[in-house]
Parts: sequence; C-alpha cells; structure tokens
Amino acid sequence: MRADDQEPGPCPERVAVYPGSFDPLTNGHVDIIERGARLFDRIIVAVLVNSDKRPLFSVDERVETAREVFRNRPKVEVDAFEGLLIDFARQRKASAIVRGLRAVSDFEFEFQMALMNRRLAPDIETVFMMPAEAYTYISSRLVREVYALGGAVQGLVPEAVEARLGRKFARG
Ligand code: ADP
Repeated sequence: MRADDQEPGPCPERVAVYPGSFDPLTNGHVDIIERGARLFDRIIVAVLVNSDKRPLFSVDERVETAREVFRNRPKVEVDAFEGLLIDFARQRKASAIVRGLRAVSDFEFEFQMALMNRRLAPDIETVFMMPAEAYTYISSRLVREVYALGGAVQGLVPEAVEARLGRKFARG
C-alpha cells in the first residue's frame, strides 16, 4: 500500500502549556490564557513548584484558585509541575509553550528561556502573546505588594483571587 492510500488520521489535538508561578493569578495571566484557548485545543496552566521561593500562596492554593477561575472553561486545565518544563510538556503531549510578554524588559529572560527550551526539546515551540494594553503593567509581585500595604487590587485580579487575598490578610 502506498503512503498516500492511507486514510488520513484524526487531526492531533493541539495542546499548549502555560507555565509560571501565578502567585497570585492576575488578569494579565487570564488574558493570556484566554488568547491561548483561542489558538489551541487545550491549554494547561502549569503552576511551578519552586521550593526556594517564599510564596504568598501555596502551590495547592494557586492550583485551586486557577481551577475556580476557569471552572467553566473546559479547554483550560490547571496542574502543578516540578522539574524541567519540557519533561512536563512531553508528558502532557503539548507541542507548545505559551508565555506572555508585557514589555521589552520581559524579553531578554524570555528569549533565553525559549532558546534553552528549544535546545532541550526542538519539537516544542514557544509562543509569545501580548496581553491587552490595560494589563501590561500588572505583575504578581506588584499585586502582592500593593495588597499587603492596604491598596485595592480590584480589576487587576480575578474575584476569586481578591477573595483569597482578603482571607490571607484578614481583610475584605
Ligand atoms: P514567572 O514567575 O515565571 O515570571 P509569572 O506567573 O509571573 O511567572 O508569569 C508567567 C508568564 O505570564 C510569564 O510569561 C510572564 O511574562 C507572563 N505574565 C505575567 N504577568 C503578565 C501580564 N500582566 N500580562 C501578560 N503576561 C504576563
């Protein structure tokens, strides 16, 4: 039988991984996830287990929060991962890594990471996406700092995150 006699197989599902700390998840992250969900069949938000940072929220809390935010979005999955990102991506049959770019300042680090990941896994592509302009200045670190000092973060993070911040700092 010739190769072109074969029935075409089902189109493989396009899966992307969106890795990060998400401590906490912000509306900038949500924007990137929504964009990713339009491009891919499935997007896996991968919360990095990083033992040397001192996080505000535990990995379990971050996974739970993101699941709550995306509970009505079947294309969005949330999981924790440890070790090399490309190993996790392979395990989950992902062909792409999604990252967000806010400003030129993100570029250098992201560029290095993307090229290192390509060296480790040439078959996995890194895809960069820009959030809506209104979210370009938001970072998890700023949200943590502003909230801890008594500032409002309404509109910068999903409501589920605001509620958890309120409980963590016994406010709201
Ligand atoms: P990390 O700790 O690896 O920086 P983050 O959780 O802060 O992880 O971010 C994960 C990804 O989301 C990174 O690619 C980061 O550039 C991107 N990101 C963070 N904040 C925003 C935002 N406001 N808009 C778009 N992308 C963002």
